[in-house]
Formats: sequence, structure tokens, C-alpha cells
Amino acid sequence: MTEMIYDVPASWAKKAYLNDAKYKKMYAASIKDPDKFWGEQGKRIDWFKPYSKVRNASYKPGKVSIKWYEDGTTNVAYNCVDRHLPTRAKQTAIIWEGDDPSESKKITYGQLYTEVCKFANVLKAKGVKKGDRVTIYLPMIPEAAYAMLACARIGAMHSVVFGGFSPDSLASRIEDSDSKIVITADEGLRGGRSVPLKKNVDAADPKVKGGIETVIVVKRTGGNVTMQDGRDVWYHDEAAKVSGHCPPVEVKAEDPLFLLYTSGSTGKPKGVLHTTGGYLVYASMTHQYVFDYHDGDIYWCTADVGWVTGHSYILYGPLANGATTLMFEGIPTYPTISRFWEVIDKHKVNIFYTAPTAIRSLMGAGEEAVTKTKRKSLRLLGSVGEPINPEAWEWYHRVVGERRCPIVDTWWQTETGGILISPLPGATKLKPGSATRPFFGIRPEIVDAEGKVLEGAVEGNLVISESWPGQMRTVYGDHKRFEETYFATYPNKYFTGDGCRRDADGYYWITGRVDDVINVSGHRMGTAEVESALVAHPKVSEAAVVGYPHDIKGQGIYAYVTLMAGENPSADLKKELVTYVRNEIGPIASPDLIQFAPGLPKTRSGKIMRRILRKIAEDEFGALGDTSTLADPAVVDDLVANRQNKR
Ligand code: ATP
Ligand code: MG
Repeated sequence: MTEMIYDVPASWAKKAYLNDAKYKKMYAASIKDPDKFWGEQGKRIDWFKPYSKVRNASYKPGKVSIKWYEDGTTNVAYNCVDRHLPTRAKQTAIIWEGDDPSESKKITYGQLYTEVCKFANVLKAKGVKKGDRVTIYLPMIPEAAYAMLACARIGAMHSVVFGGFSPDSLASRIEDSDSKIVITADEGLRGGRSVPLKKNVDAADPKVKGGIETVIVVKRTGGNVTMQDGRDVWYHDEAAKVSGHCPPVEVKAEDPLFLLYTSGSTGKPKGVLHTTGGYLVYASMTHQYVFDYHDGDIYWCTADVGWVTGHSYILYGPLANGATTLMFEGIPTYPTISRFWEVIDKHKVNIFYTAPTAIRSLMGAGEEAVTKTKRKSLRLLGSVGEPINPEAWEWYHRVVGERRCPIVDTWWQTETGGILISPLPGATKLKPGSATRPFFGIRPEIVDAEGKVLEGAVEGNLVISESWPGQMRTVYGDHKRFEETYFATYPNKYFTGDGCRRDADGYYWITGRVDDVINVSGHRMGTAEVESALVAHPKVSEAAVVGYPHDIKGQGIYAYVTLMAGENPSADLKKELVTYVRNEIGPIASPDLIQFAPGLPKTRSGKIMRRILRKIAEDEFGALGDTSTLADPAVVDDLVANRQNKR
């Protein structure tokens, strides 16, 4: 495929924090002397007691231990709220946009202080102490932010569970994290429909070993709920009894801030534990530079706070930087397919950060839904969560950003705490589909199956060879699983689980999960490349590619294809798609089997679960593995029923 390159727009090169030369200089400095570099960056947050040690990390097999700023003390809520009060008490911290477009509000840093303190006092009154775990199962309402910051304020760990999860998924997370207390709402509201959050908590309770001691219920819709005596309280009743001041607890840099379960794309979700000081330094720094955030900018990340993107880039990074961050309760298609763009116009959003799954689905709705809005305030676009197909990238760039907004394709993971590979808008020439270059202090390497480090333009497995402050510290309650998952495959390196190609310009291209790599007649291929070729066809809206056992080739290519609305599946179209991929990539990549699928199995965060598709393609649909994070289990039945015959 011909490779497009987009230069940094002149206006960007001039006003951004970093241009190419500055990036290179700063990157080199971060690699040459990490202690000095991170020692200086650590000062971007306020410390109660300053640190004297910066980095103390070992990836040694059996002795993995990661510590940053370990003798410093601080508090995350203090850094995200209190320290801004002298200059920003009247500035908007959070713009909340409701599911219903007639509902929105602005919360200043001054108000945020009071709300967080009240929530913290309510938690304290309910017996929550430093080190306790608090499960938060809330919709995208400001109380979610208050509750998270309230935990941080008193040194408790939050474990946010996405509001779309079932009682079973919720129960297993409450139990794994050993939370005695759950914060929820009567109901959530998404796309005009109510989500029975409190009922789900009621249904989860008997499934939790030891049960739930306390449930704090925020009133969102006023929907009918049953309150259980002795266990359940209304938040507003409790908040009325407490003061609007609560001193932030002094915690150590390595005290836990939160735990969060991964999306479950590759298996059973892992309880990822992040700590205080290094995490906040890294979230704040990446938010500033990757989004080139300047005072006064309106910034919108569309993720749910139930995902790490919501933690680092709706809440902690932006608020540590004194930003104005938008929080959206609804979905991209309600009440109209133009909702994202309407919200951008309504709140004059400058920086917009979303996921490829949203871009692909909105692309299917046609350009008119976008072009009828103005989007004049937009300056920068971002993408996260999956590889973005060049086709979707181009559409995002041309239609949404009118060719004037750079796109930051940010690669990272729940485990990494913050963005590791991404363009910087004033510094990096863009190539659609590439996450481009490493952030400061990040040393990506590409290794082969034996762990040999490959140099130059190569493809292989992506590892990171040094620690960075935002890195996860352990799997909650299971340090052994932490070591085995991330440090056993390639000793002394952090293994990402992702496949990656580096091109001649040193740009990184994530090719998909290593588990998903297919080997056709001895040629290793990432799924992303074949999928991108399919999606580039005008009739295709989404595609997922997996391997299946093939007598001659070793593995054959099995492609699940979702067509654009109004397109009809046919044998001719299958042939056309095979030819198309053959022309785009080469004969080696031509799909052996194509199954037209009205829907693909996705995680609740919108990622395609290829491990399930692989099982179906391998005819092992009796053993699909952990499906608790599937957004719509019914999709799988259809796929199984219509699977393609291999003989
Ligand atoms: P699990 O670890 O439970 O299988 P998950 O990996 O989907 O779930 P996350 O931590 O939410 O959980 O996602 C991180 C993964 O998402 C990365 O490892 C990568 O595969 C993919 N990803 C994220 N951003 C990008 C990006 N910009 N380009 C390509 N892939 C991305
Ligand atoms: Mg993962």
C-alpha cells in the first residue's frame, strides 16, 4: 500500500510545546539520564515531602519490583484539585454533558473541591480507611469523578467497574478486589434507555463471597429501587450530614491509587494496580505534551471512566494540569448520529480523543452527518484502543478534522498507565495507521520469538526495556501472575503482548496482538494489515481476521466481514474482496474464507475479541473462554450458526 505522510502544519510547529528538534533533544536526554530527566519531571506535581530517590526498578525474573519517587509523599486529589484553587477556583474543571442534549452543567475547581471533600467525608463516615478498596459502579456522571478523587483523598483504592457490566462480572470484580463498599446509582442513562445499576448491585451481592457491607446510591434518574436496610444509603442523605472540607491524607508515592481490570480481549481480566506519584507524573506529562494542552483549551476524551483511558485522560492527567475536561454521559448516536459533532460545537471543544470503533461506526453513517456541523473549534484529534485502519484515519482527518487537525494515534495499555507511543502534534509527521514514535523515557524494542532484539526496519514482538513512572506495579493480590504475564516471556523486558513493525523512519506500527499473528506458509502476518485492506473496500464497514488450521499452508486466513448499511452479501462480493486484498497486500494475504457477519464480538470498550473468532474458525466453539466482557453475547450465536465450511 502506498504510504501517505502528513507534515506538521506550520501553525502547529509554531505554537506547540515541542517541535521535531526539541522532541529529539528531550527524548535523547530522557534515555541518557532517566534519573535526571524524571527527577525534574517529578516536580510537575506538588509533594508534601519531596523525594530524594527517583527510580528503583528491577525486571529480574522472580524479583520484579518497580518503585518511583519512593521516599516522597503526596496526595493525588490535592494535586488535581486543591493546588489549583488559588488561581482556578472559578475556572471550569469538568463540563458534564448529559445523555439528553438539554442537560449539561459546568463544575468549577472551587465546586469540585467541595464535592470531593463531601464525598470523602461520606466514605470516612462509612468506615472507609486508607488502603481499603472501594468499588465504583456508576454511570458517566460527575459523582464518578467526585468518588474517585474522594478515594484518592483519603488514601483508599478505587476499583471502577464499567456500568455496562452484568451482575456476574461486577460480583467477580468486587470479590477479587475484596471491596466492602460499592458506590452506584439508582440507574444510568445511555441513549435514552435506563440501565438498572442498583438492581445489578442487588443481584451481584449474593454472588460475592462475604457479601457487600455498604452500598452508597447516587440518585440519577429517580427510577424505582429497593433500598436494603443496614446496607444501602442514599448519597444525598449522607452528604447532607458532612462538611465540605476534608484534609487530604498524606500518602507515600508507592501507596496504591487504584486497581482496574483490563478489557479481557485476550483472556480473564487482570486486576492492574497503579500507585500514586509516578502514575500522576506520567499521566500529567503525557496529557500535556501528547494533546499539547494549553490553558483555556476545552478537552474531550469520549472514553468511559470504567476504562483506563477514562482514568488517565478524563480525570487524572487533565485535572493535574488544571484543564477543562468534558465528561459525556451518552453514546455517539443518540439522539442523532451527529451527537459527537454537535457536542463539539456546543462546548467549543478544541481537542477530541476517541476510539477507532466509534470512528468506524460513524464513518458508516456517511459524511453529511458530520459536515452539517461546524467543528470550527477543533484543533487536534486523537485515537486509542485498537490499531486505526488507514481508511478510518483518512476519514477522521479529512471529514472530521477538515485536514487541519493532526491525529495523535496513541498506543498504550491499562498496564502502562499512560501513553507510550504516539505522535506529538507539533513535532511528528504522521503516517495513517502508525502510532509513530516513543514518548519520553520509553524504550520500545522489537524482539523475535527467542527474545533476540531486532534492529532497523523489522517486525516482531513489542517489548519495553526500561521502567517508566506510570507502569503498573502488580496484579492485585497475585504478584506471581504479574511476573508471569509480563516479565517471563522475555527476561528483563516488559512484554506488551502486542506485535509490532518498525519502519525505516523508526516509526512503530502495532500489528495486533501477538496471539493473533497468523502464519501462512511460513509468512508471519499481523491481523491489522489484512483487516485494513478489507476495510479500505468501499462496501466494507468492519473486518476481523484470524487464522485457522490449513492442511497445506499451516494456517489459512479466515475473514469476518461486516458490510456497510445497505450492501448485500453475495458470492461475487466475496470474490471481489479476495481480489481486492490480493491487489492491496499480495497473494499471501488473500483470505481463504470469508464470512459475512452482521456484527462482531466486541468487548464493552469496543475492541474486537479475535480469540473468540479464532475459536469459531477453528470449530472449537464449545470452548470460547472468558466471555464475561462481551458487549453482546448474541452476536456469537449468529457467527457460530453461519460459520464457513473448511472442506
Ligand atoms: P486484556 O489485556 O484483558 O486482553 P486489552 O488488552 O484489550 O484486554 P486494554 O489495556 O484496554 O485491554 O487495551 C490495551 C491494548 O489495546 C493494547 O495492548 C493494544 O493491543 C490495543 N491498543 C491500544 N491502543 C492502540 C493503538 N493506538 N494502536 C493499536 N493498538 C492499540
Ligand atoms: Mg492487554
